[in-house]
Amino acid sequence: MPTKAMFLMIKQMLQRPFTNPFPVKHAPKDVTSLVEKIQKGEVKIYPPVPVPEGFRGKLHYDPERCIGCRLCITVCPANAMEWIPELRKIRHYVSRCMFCALCVDVCPGKKFPGEEKAVKALSMSEEFLIADYDKYSDNLIEEPPEAKEKGI
Ligand code: SF4
Ligand code: SF4
Repeated sequence: MPTKAMFLMIKQMLQRPFTNPFPVKHAPKDVTSLVEKIQKGEVKIYPPVPVPEGFRGKLHYDPERCIGCRLCITVCPANAMEWIPELRKIRHYVSRCMFCALCVDVCPGKKFPGEEKAVKALSMSEEFLIADYDKYSDNLIEEPPEAKEKGI
């Protein structure tokens, strides 16, 4: 004798799934063939679920706006900031960060001539796809370009 639960299950089987097939539906076993299929336009890319307003993603650092006050280093509970004395700027290690945004809150930033108010040197972006093979890859370190050029 069919029960109410069985009817409900059959009804749900006929409905569209709620899954977000990110990044693609029926992904091949390896990344190389996935990339090839994407390049040939053979698979449709589904975007990730949108992030909400105020989302705390990868921290972005604008050295031009940094006045070298070191407040971000003082408040960071994860020791994710490093002082670069030669440049009087900071280096941020994304792999150590816990995305609390305390550094963004305290950052005074800098006001350029003609601007009404100072703009912070630090900001939380909406970027969250930050997986990497190396925790010290360029992708996971925010620093002034001179630091890399001079090997500091
Ligand atoms: S977001 Fe938090 S953990 Fe990350 S660098 Fe800033 S203060 Fe440190
Ligand atoms: S990033 Fe902001 S808080 Fe950190 S040293 Fe620069 S100005 Fe100060």
